[in-house]
Amino acid sequence: MKRLICLSLIVSLSCTVLKAVVYDALVIGGGPAGLVAAMEIARAKYHVAVVAPDSGQLVGSHDVENIPGIPAKPGAEIMDDLQKQVASFGAEFINDRVTAVDFDKAPYRLVTQENGILEAKTIIIATGSSAKKLGIPGEQEFWGRGVSSCAVCDCFLYTNKKVVIIGGGNSAIDEALQLAEYAREVTILVRGNEMRADAWGQDKVREKKNISIRYTIDVLEVLGDEEHGVTAIQIRDTATGLTQKMVIDGVFLAIGHKPNSDLFKKWIATDAQGYIILNGRSQATAVPGVFVAGDVADPVYKKAYIAMGAGGQAGLEAVHYVRFHG
Ligand code: NDP
Repeated sequence: MKRLICLSLIVSLSCTVLKAVVYDALVIGGGPAGLVAAMEIARAKYHVAVVAPDSGQLVGSHDVENIPGIPAKPGAEIMDDLQKQVASFGAEFINDRVTAVDFDKAPYRLVTQENGILEAKTIIIATGSSAKKLGIPGEQEFWGRGVSSCAVCDCFLYTNKKVVIIGGGNSAIDEALQLAEYAREVTILVRGNEMRADAWGQDKVREKKNISIRYTIDVLEVLGDEEHGVTAIQIRDTATGLTQKMVIDGVFLAIGHKPNSDLFKKWIATDAQGYIILNGRSQATAVPGVFVAGDVADPVYKKAYIAMGAGGQAGLEAVHYVRFHG
């Protein structure tokens, strides 16, 4: 039976339909951590749903070669297979975005954009992290018109064009390999003397004739106009002090990520960068029955297989919690 409920804490959603079902567990986030958590909960025969608008960052990875037992393949394929595997155990998928949470008392509540309020005895936070921006002039003005942080989404727009990628990590490698399939010239701009990306990725990039790397480069400004969008960037070589205009068609940012923890800060402690703080080796938080897994709580490793392991651990802890406290 459905009933109407009014929630004073959500100003924009004063009255909504509350679904009668109280899930054993709701997983917020559809990346590797969230899916593996859901898989363990579903395998234990508990009622679990993954609430997420997308499948996380791994779908943007051109090639993932370090998931044990899975030969190198695109992140999108890995996530597709994982979704099917998780669904095969009975986990549900709710394609929606969580806009607020209420962890005051169980059952805990998630406010969603499309599905009203969802309730569960236990929650897994697996919201991952989002791409950072530089904060330089022109970046916001030309966002979506030549500035992007998703090569896999926008690469086809740059067929036979010149693009730069800013950053020296594994994301920069991924973006470069993806864009090199389309663009005429891809230049990776690294602010320091070396890339921090894994050696195998750097080797792959060096094999590509249309990818080059420039070191000690700061990007100062994105330039463009109404008609063409981005047309150039202003850069400075910090080794020589020389400033130069570089004519290009697109700028891809790959300068790291910010944990998506803002929704939970009223209830759950984060560090100075916003990463959720875990209770020792457990995936538990200070709120009983609320667990966390993946990049939102990982300031160090940030690998998909590590997120998967943490997701499995969070899922098992949630199962234990529901069994004995739910
Ligand atoms: P990282 O934090 O690893 O790298 C960020 C890069 O951006 C660094 O080179 C950093 O430079 C540079 N940077 C940061 N701020 C600025 C700035 N203001 N201006 C210019 N450059 C800047 O982030 P990634 O997104 O690359 O990776 C995040 C995590 O995800 C990593 O752990 C990575 O291994 C993982 N990952 C794994 C993949 C895979 O296994 N296939 C694919 C993609 C990501 P500096 O080094 O000087 O600090």
